[in-house]
Amino acid sequence: MSPYADETAARALIVRTARSLFTRGLTHGSTGNLSIRLADGSLLLTPTGASLGTLTERELSRTDLHGALLGGPRPTKEAFLHAAFYRSRPHAHAVVHLHSTHAAAVSCLADINPDDVLPPLTAYYAMRIGTLPLLPYHAPGDSRLEPAAEAAARTHHAVLLANHGPVVAAATLEQAADATEELEATAKLHLLLQGHRTRPLTPEQAAALGPTPPDGRNGTS
Ligand code: ZN
Repeated sequence: MSPYADETAARALIVRTARSLFTRGLTHGSTGNLSIRLADGSLLLTPTGASLGTLTERELSRTDLHGALLGGPRPTKEAFLHAAFYRSRPHAHAVVHLHSTHAAAVSCLADINPDDVLPPLTAYYAMRIGTLPLLPYHAPGDSRLEPAAEAAARTHHAVLLANHGPVVAAATLEQAADATEELEATAKLHLLLQGHRTRPLTPEQAAALGPTPPDGRNGTS
């Protein structure tokens, strides 16, 4: 069940979260987009071309689960990614996508493992992200990425878009933002540790922590 029965409160939460992420430098310019799945099943999304730093509650877009506009301005051109996550993850009620610097930097590295981009350097990363697949590069807004995103979202609540940035789903917007920040912090650690001998958590240590996806479960059950 969606925690977002009150659309006015959901709009305020999106604006507050967007401003917090922007003012702390977690995305820049007009990049990054957030969404919430309301109790009626429709999606509330940040609009196209908007800065997360100056967004207002009246400027949000509403669409259905397949991207059809129900109200407000045109949504972010990455709205199809949000919809793909909601279709694949019935327990997800929020999605965060940022162009956060360190995660974007990792998404540009050669020779990364596309099945799991980052090692489990810390317990919080293991708990909040777990495994992180890399989705192949597509130009922003290219909906040919949609089938790959929808398939990956069935088994992962977080993905990294190549040469772009992370997309993370969770039960609430606070949890999605928190997990995205954990991913960004771990990407930063990973880059700081390049060239250093590193001891990530062992598979047993990581497994003992979860991961527990913040929208409850993986898979389609
Ligand atoms: Zn983007």
